Amino acid sequence: MKQLFNLHTHTSRCGHASGSDEEYVLAAIKAGYKVLGFSDHCPYMEYPNKRVHMDWDELEDYISSINALKEKYKDQIEIHVGLESEYFPQFHEEKEYLRSKVEYMIFGQHFLLPECKHSYFGNVSDAEINAYVDQVLTGLDSGLFTYLCHPDVFMNSQTVFTEACYNAAHKIAQKAVETDTPVEINIRGAQKGKKEFRDGSFQFWYPNKQFWKIMAEYPIKCVVGVDAHAPEDLLDKEALEAAYEELSDLNLNYVKVIV
Ligand SMILES: [Zn+2]
Ligand SMILES: [Zn+2]
Repeated sequence: MKQLFNLHTHTSRCGHASGSDEEYVLAAIKAGYKVLGFSDHCPYMEYPNKRVHMDWDELEDYISSINALKEKYKDQIEIHVGLESEYFPQFHEEKEYLRSKVEYMIFGQHFLLPECKHSYFGNVSDAEINAYVDQVLTGLDSGLFTYLCHPDVFMNSQTVFTEACYNAAHKIAQKAVETDTPVEINIRGAQKGKKEFRDGSFQFWYPNKQFWKIMAEYPIKCVVGVDAHAPEDLLDKEALEAAYEELSDLNLNYVKVIV
């Protein structure tokens, strides 16, 4: 099966993605997508960081650039403008404002602190995984988000599936069901290939099989997100197929997310 929409696409404004906005659109058309959503990393008024997210004063240009492409390619593909954002309760109003500026917002909790400090990828402790889960549950309750990106992102660089990982999967799945929020199977993780775990097995960091096996015990709604940081990521069929294949025996419920 192949999902005909992708709502997880970055632009060069975040400082760690490449290509022009139009190149992403052309790649998406070539890849056969019917819907392409841009969801670049949201700006923080107080914490500019050109390697992580767009600057606050780039927001208007971002929105108008995507809207111009929406119009230009309307006969070939449906385009939407959104943002990917962390959630911190102290910035709720700022997030509400950003949400009001775009068509949708997806939820990716990358950092423990809003100043983009203490990232949740790169071999994190069980205490940090627990903190991640608390933040994710709070964010899911905010009602701001269309779906939860890479819920298993904390597995990035992990080589053991600990008790905290196990609890994370259960708690996130329960909250996703309770708030009726779809959860994302993230292709960027699959692009990195399988890694050797301490028990000798080879697994993706994300989508991590052990994590999704637990998630699949709940009636969750799943969505696939390319998390494109370069136009050619949209054409990477190998990673896409590998992710589907990895989870194919879990009987996951893939849904169409409408913006
Ligand atoms: Zn990124
Ligand atoms: Zn992300």
